[in-house]
Amino acid sequence: MYSHKKCSEKGCLYFAYKDYDKCLEHIENRDKLIKEATLELKNSDIIRNSNLSTIQLDSIELKDKIIVVTNFSNSKFTNIDFSGSSILFSLFQYSTFLNCKFNSTIIKYTVFAGSTFTDCEFLDSNIVNSNFNGIKGENLSFNDSDMYYSTFISSNLKNVTFVECNLKKTDLYKSERTNVNFKYSNYEEAFFNRNR
Ligand SMILES: [Zn+2]
Repeated sequence: MYSHKKCSEKGCLYFAYKDYDKCLEHIENRDKLIKEATLELKNSDIIRNSNLSTIQLDSIELKDKIIVVTNFSNSKFTNIDFSGSSILFSLFQYSTFLNCKFNSTIIKYTVFAGSTFTDCEFLDSNIVNSNFNGIKGENLSFNDSDMYYSTFISSNLKNVTFVECNLKKTDLYKSERTNVNFKYSNYEEAFFNRNR
């Protein structure tokens, strides 16, 4: 398990980065540490028990990785391809994802709550028991994915497709949806309210 130590900077609510006392926003040699971590991520098949909270990654391939019990909360991902990866028991809460791919992934017991996703794909994936509560998502596609028991409570979804998905027990309670497409999915088995 990674450390749950918070940043020592007064008033900062982020987790401290790795074994440091502060988050990456408040560590002086931040750019060097991000470069090191980027190399490490690219060269590792398994990323485990790591606290990489507040990291900013841009235009790298993280395909076919196994990411387990890793904290990426309050982070920023731009043009990152996670396709083919397994992401288990990990935290991505309050993060920003721009033009990222999660195609043919396995995502289980993972938290994306409070994050913002723009132009991202989660095609043909197994996304179960994962938490997307309160996300803001625009131009997303989850087509051909198993979304069993994943939750989108109080999320704000715009131009999102869930075509040919398994939505059994997927929880969309209090979600705000604009142009969301559930074509060929069993949306009647999803939860949209608390009347049943
Ligand atoms: Zn901090």
